[in-house]
Amino acid sequence: MSVSQLARSIKASPTLKLNETAAKLRERGEPVIHLGGGEPKSKAPLDAVLNCAAQLNTGEVRYAPADGLPALKKAIIRYTEDHYGHSVAPEQIVVGSGAKQSIMSLLYSILEPHDEVIFPAPYWVSYPEMVKLAGGVPVVVTPESGGFQPTVDEMVEVIGSQTRAIILNSPNNPSGAMYSKEFVRAMVELCEKRDLWLIMDDLYNRLVFDGQSAPNPYSFAQDLGESSKLVVVQGVSKMYAMTGFRIGWAIANREVAEAMTNLQSHQTSGPVTVSQWAAIGALSGVQTSIETLRLTLENQRNVMLERLATIPGLRIIKPQGTFYCFPDFSAYEKSSMKLAEFLLERVRVVVVPGKEFGMEGHLRLSYCGGMKEIMEGVERIKWALDPNAPNELFIGDRRLVRDWA
Ligand code: PMP
Repeated sequence: MSVSQLARSIKASPTLKLNETAAKLRERGEPVIHLGGGEPKSKAPLDAVLNCAAQLNTGEVRYAPADGLPALKKAIIRYTEDHYGHSVAPEQIVVGSGAKQSIMSLLYSILEPHDEVIFPAPYWVSYPEMVKLAGGVPVVVTPESGGFQPTVDEMVEVIGSQTRAIILNSPNNPSGAMYSKEFVRAMVELCEKRDLWLIMDDLYNRLVFDGQSAPNPYSFAQDLGESSKLVVVQGVSKMYAMTGFRIGWAIANREVAEAMTNLQSHQTSGPVTVSQWAAIGALSGVQTSIETLRLTLENQRNVMLERLATIPGLRIIKPQGTFYCFPDFSAYEKSSMKLAEFLLERVRVVVVPGKEFGMEGHLRLSYCGGMKEIMEGVERIKWALDPNAPNELFIGDRRLVRDWA
């Protein structure tokens, strides 16, 4: 075995792998419908593109500071004041190459070997691997209710002497569930009382539906000073549809922010300067694109739910935000991996198995693609699963025949 034990313990990101599979099949001319994606289809805001292009035209693209350009930090400070009502100092902000790097740098900066990090299931696929990479131990809380919202008691029960941090992602990838205000308040209070880090992965917190808004963790905190262990992670990937720019950030106390900066200074140096210019443009420019995206996603969620409701036996909890839906398909197949493979093979629909998110029997279906993909994708799934569906299905000029029970 030539690779390290650490490398062997880490799995490839299943979602990125699925993107590759879908792209390869498409290249071969296969009529693939990708309901496995994790990025909105809309374009980056014009202000992002213009600011980036203007700077790029100068031809001068240099290293940025390891923790981000001062102008971007300024824009982040303004954003945090506007949307969280919270003032932060530039020294508390660490810009990373995507929220992914921000979470990773943070975990490296706060975990001792074997420290435990608690997060509820279903969880974002990367949390367990990231915690392991940083030498920690992931501890998953699966809600007994069978739903997506753990109780405070369920979280408290797993806290032990090795517990170092809790990660909350709300609204949540993959379930679209948003934790209640009471729950977030209780977690903020619990972490303050037990001296634990609370990592709020707020990447989707502007993409919330039905007139609701995401709870603001700062509003529940007693301690917002230098010993605060509340860390908020944000980024431009989802709310501005800027996944390819790879810009995220963490807001933490100065000591940890400095540790993260030192770490990044050896790991990647500052995030790509060109992308930071784009992020400055997005954060400082006209903000209508977020609301347009939010409305589009809400509409697409509604259509996906309507269509899914026609498949008998599915258990669906209405997503309150994000662009994911996480129905329970176990009435058809208990193994989400088998079911995902079956759907790809038989009807060329890409979905992500719930097992990857710590919840078997479920599939993650994205509604961030086009409306046509959503409708046709769910139609194909229904056809493949429903024994009462007609025997034939046409995909373009291809005729599929159901020869399975
Ligand atoms: N957190 C969650 C919950 C996510 O879904 C993602 C992206 N899929 C990230 C963090 C990382 O986002 P990025 O690195 O693109 O900023």
